Amino acid sequence: MNMRKKIVAGNWKMNMNLQEGVALAEELNEALKAKSVKCDVVVGTPFIHLASVADAVDASRIGVAAQNCADKVSGAYTGEVSAAMVASTGAKYVILGHSERRAYYHETPEMLKEKVLLALANGLTPIFCIGEVLDERESGKHFEVVQSQIEASLFGLSADDFGRIVLAYEPVWAIGTGKTASAAQAQEMHAFIRRTLTGKYGAEVADRTSILYGGSCNASNAQELFSNPDVDGGLIGGASLGVDKFMPIIEAF
Ligand code: PEP
Repeated sequence: MNMRKKIVAGNWKMNMNLQEGVALAEELNEALKAKSVKCDVVVGTPFIHLASVADAVDASRIGVAAQNCADKVSGAYTGEVSAAMVASTGAKYVILGHSERRAYYHETPEMLKEKVLLALANGLTPIFCIGEVLDERESGKHFEVVQSQIEASLFGLSADDFGRIVLAYEPVWAIGTGKTASAAQAQEMHAFIRRTLTGKYGAEVADRTSILYGGSCNASNAQELFSNPDVDGGLIGGASLGVDKFMPIIEAF
């Protein structure tokens, strides 16, 4: 058994109003009090929920994550939320590079590089998402796509800074589609990612980096996915929106 941190992180996306979100976080907090779980638990909420959710839960039980942050420090960027603002709510994590942000909001590797630096500078742990679209997998380009996403946004970091990154491999064709990567496909890619990290930062950093799987992960497939040696947990969308669905994934460890 490796010593890497195991993490199950929910990504609520743009769901639930403030009251519903706080109620879900409180219910999850209560459910976790009654259990001793073997992984860290994170909830990724919309920006406006962050402070209330961070107040509503025990920081020792649930880490709070934003789903994005700005690529600028501060100033005249109407509608943006900075990494410093996220950190000031009590959030400890920020999901960056989610495929929905890359695809719908045109986030580029260069923007993501800035966001990662600002997140780290503000003491946040980035949960950095990478993953290929269906065409890329079908044409056998999935390894090179994932490698170049990592290289373009993260390989400028020092080994110390890289050591503070959590990765989430999310094949885009599996997100919200009900189509999960097989345990073998997940393990194959996670092992490839770890080899890529070893090549750049050495075995010690690579061995310590948590690599989560995301894409239609749920109570019925989590255990099989998490039992792979290089799969260190999950980033969970749809199945994080109810304690009844999320708790069994946490308990899959
Ligand atoms: C996600 O958006 O990170 C995700 C994995 O979504 P889902 O679990 O709904 O596929």
